[in-house]
Amino acid sequence: MEAHPDIQTTQKGFRCTLCDVNLPNGPTVDAHVKGRKHQNLFRLRATRKEQVQNSVFVSGIKPNTLSTHLINYFQQFGPVEDVIMDKEKGSYAIVEFEEQASVSAVLQRSEHVMNGLKLRIKQRESKEFKVVLKRKQDAKNAHVNLDALSQELCRAASVNEQMLRVVESFQLNENERNGRELLVKLLQEVFTEFLPDCEIHPFGSTVNTFGVHSCDMDLFLDLEKTRSFQARSKTSSEQPGEGQSEDARSEDSILSDIDLSTATAAEVLELVAAVLRKCVPGVHKVQPLPTARLPVVKFSHRNLNLHGDITIKNRLALRNTRFLQLCSELDSRLRPLVFTVRFWAKQKQLAGNPFGGGPLLNNYALTLMVMFFLQNRSPPVLPSVDQLKNMACEEEECVIEGWDCTFPSQAIAVPPSKNTEDLCTLLAAFFSFYATFDFSASVLSVREARPVPITSFLPPAAPQSDGARAPKPPAGPRLGHMTVLDPFELRHNVAGNLSERTLKSFQRECADAEKYCRSLQYQRKSAKGKSWGLVRLFAPRCPTVPGAGGKPGEGKERRLELSVPFRLAALPDAVQRQLGTAGERFREQWFAMVRVALERVFQEVLGCSPAQEEEFEGQMDTSASSDTVAMDTAKAEEASRGGDQSEAAAAAPSCSSADASFDSVTSPQAGQKRAFTSVETSPASPQEKRRRLCPAEEEEEEGADGAPSASWCWVQRHPVWAGRRKVRRDLLKARGDSDAGACQPEGGGVAMELLVTRHITAKQPDPHDLVAFKVGADVVGGSENTRAVLRFTPLCDHKGHFQDFFHFLEIFLPKTTEAFLGK
Ligand code: ATP
Ligand code: MG
Repeated sequence: MEAHPDIQTTQKGFRCTLCDVNLPNGPTVDAHVKGRKHQNLFRLRATRKEQVQNSVFVSGIKPNTLSTHLINYFQQFGPVEDVIMDKEKGSYAIVEFEEQASVSAVLQRSEHVMNGLKLRIKQRESKEFKVVLKRKQDAKNAHVNLDALSQELCRAASVNEQMLRVVESFQLNENERNGRELLVKLLQEVFTEFLPDCEIHPFGSTVNTFGVHSCDMDLFLDLEKTRSFQARSKTSSEQPGEGQSEDARSEDSILSDIDLSTATAAEVLELVAAVLRKCVPGVHKVQPLPTARLPVVKFSHRNLNLHGDITIKNRLALRNTRFLQLCSELDSRLRPLVFTVRFWAKQKQLAGNPFGGGPLLNNYALTLMVMFFLQNRSPPVLPSVDQLKNMACEEEECVIEGWDCTFPSQAIAVPPSKNTEDLCTLLAAFFSFYATFDFSASVLSVREARPVPITSFLPPAAPQSDGARAPKPPAGPRLGHMTVLDPFELRHNVAGNLSERTLKSFQRECADAEKYCRSLQYQRKSAKGKSWGLVRLFAPRCPTVPGAGGKPGEGKERRLELSVPFRLAALPDAVQRQLGTAGERFREQWFAMVRVALERVFQEVLGCSPAQEEEFEGQMDTSASSDTVAMDTAKAEEASRGGDQSEAAAAAPSCSSADASFDSVTSPQAGQKRAFTSVETSPASPQEKRRRLCPAEEEEEEGADGAPSASWCWVQRHPVWAGRRKVRRDLLKARGDSDAGACQPEGGGVAMELLVTRHITAKQPDPHDLVAFKVGADVVGGSENTRAVLRFTPLCDHKGHFQDFFHFLEIFLPKTTEAFLGK
């Protein structure tokens, strides 16, 4: 681990004083320091420091002093970057210069008189950079707003009315809209001076009908016509005698400095930034970001109190903005639903990335998700994009960058929906729809208005090499934990940034919200003035204790069930391609692979021996063999991290290489059978008793609904979970792997896990019978996340080890099975 100035050593590990977080060990420190949050704050602190160094504190001004007075006065010392006025009393201001030399020049002068006012000036003091304080302040402000909103919502007569009030409270008001319109006009005028024939178009939430107070202002600067203008001017200037236009001849014309036909995006953005800085009143904090996914110039506007983005390449966004406008016009229920869901998602920390990019949902993706849900109601509230395309006339055909963006320009061309559900019902249905949506195996396509199997988006298999060059397969969308296709740019997953953790939180919050929506507190106004309806839904997310299983008491009794999730991206290309050819039956194919992998993990990696259920008849206490078992959460966590460390690992037997070929190894225990202590057993159906459960002889089974299923019986004679992490760490260290401490259960790969098992089993050359258990596996998906569900039934556990073994399997089995599929 490298030394970092912001990292302190604590009793429990480390602490990053910049980000205010605890870190358990060296590798997590390294990862944290390289991570986005730390890097952003690091840069922010550097920027703040520079701002402080470039600023002076000015007192002696009057409440009627304007920032322009200060700019006019101070620019004699150098270019002024920003002026911050004391909003409360108007008695002081901070003037920030572009360069530090200007500060020295100001301080060198002993007396400053501005418009008859004697100014007192000193160097701006540097305050400690504290992120936490600001966050607390933000939270406080949010609560104040929520309090006022809650009171108003409680007064409404119904949830429908509450949702309409949410729109009223948050939407851009007339003043804000007028201010934004004026700014667009102003920018159009200014930019036209320098870039003749250019066009500036607002897009995004300012105009798509989903804008909220102080949402950012997205602008597209269209330089297409300016390019033609420049080309024309060039040609005419090259032809002697031809007259040139005023603009092109002008000494000041910025066009004389740049050739738009060859200039890079960075050069054009620099130019846009220069115009903004120098020529647009009220604009400050101008920052070109030429390397962003969409190169952009960011700016702020003082009087309008807004942040803006100007892009020069985003014609598709103009079209999808128009599309969202049209959908709002098509059905008046869309806006209240989007506003409500957006605010709910913000409160639950699911949407609104603090630094632009991030792991949460963005508002555009969330809006498309609401639309997708409405398209999937019966009857649909909104039509699919494909249907809209068919309703458009010839003149409305529109193709941008090769993508078909055709839809009618007027809502009147689209027949109204036959769906009559009210807002209250739709909101509850939204949560229920997404609480169980199969995100792992389905793509949300607003274009088709249906969930499309994720395997349909895999690139086609490369054709057999026959000497001819294979055509490059078209790039598909980046498949993510959640894949929401853009309505037009069908290669673009608008939720591609979402982390697995956010998706899980999203589905958990949807499930909680769905449950709440079934209660009377949601549906009926409280006669006693208590909070009801949306108010409770908007309660900020409470932090949950990790591993506590969510609700109090929940961690105590859990089903003996675990899942191997379907994660397409984790599979090797060849397997992906194979699944891609399976069409709608890809789940069954995948499950067949999982079945084989599971069998090998049990038998080869964990050294379980196959057995038959009949052998253990009557050996299990029914109280413990039912579907549930008492769980100690802390123990579960410990086991999930890789085994009980308190048990010292035995000296490792000699072993040639950790990379020994996995396939060549057989189970150390295969074939061995032992007698078991007799205890009461759980009742098994006669059919189950008859079934041969030894995996080697097992036929593919089918569940009651026709879906494939499988079952096995295993005996585990060694405590392969105990001290596993330490054994793994020692082995990795011996192999010279410096990251040994950070290794997860599957850290060293499947081959390493096998070695770990061998080391543990070698400790006990005379093994004791530990546990016998039955595992039934099914594949589920389509109406919930695709996964293989494994149900365990202990058959024999006379020393009470089954719980520990199961806790260990909860993490180990899905990860190792996945790793096996990847082999
Ligand atoms: P808000 O600014 O209130 O969060 P917004 O809709 O304006 O909402 P932005 O992130 O500012 O969201 O994006 C502006 C516009 O750019 C969107 O409305 C949409 O038209 C387009 N856009 C945003 N994100 C994407 C994306 N991931 N893919 C395609 N287009 C996008
Ligand atoms: Mg925006």
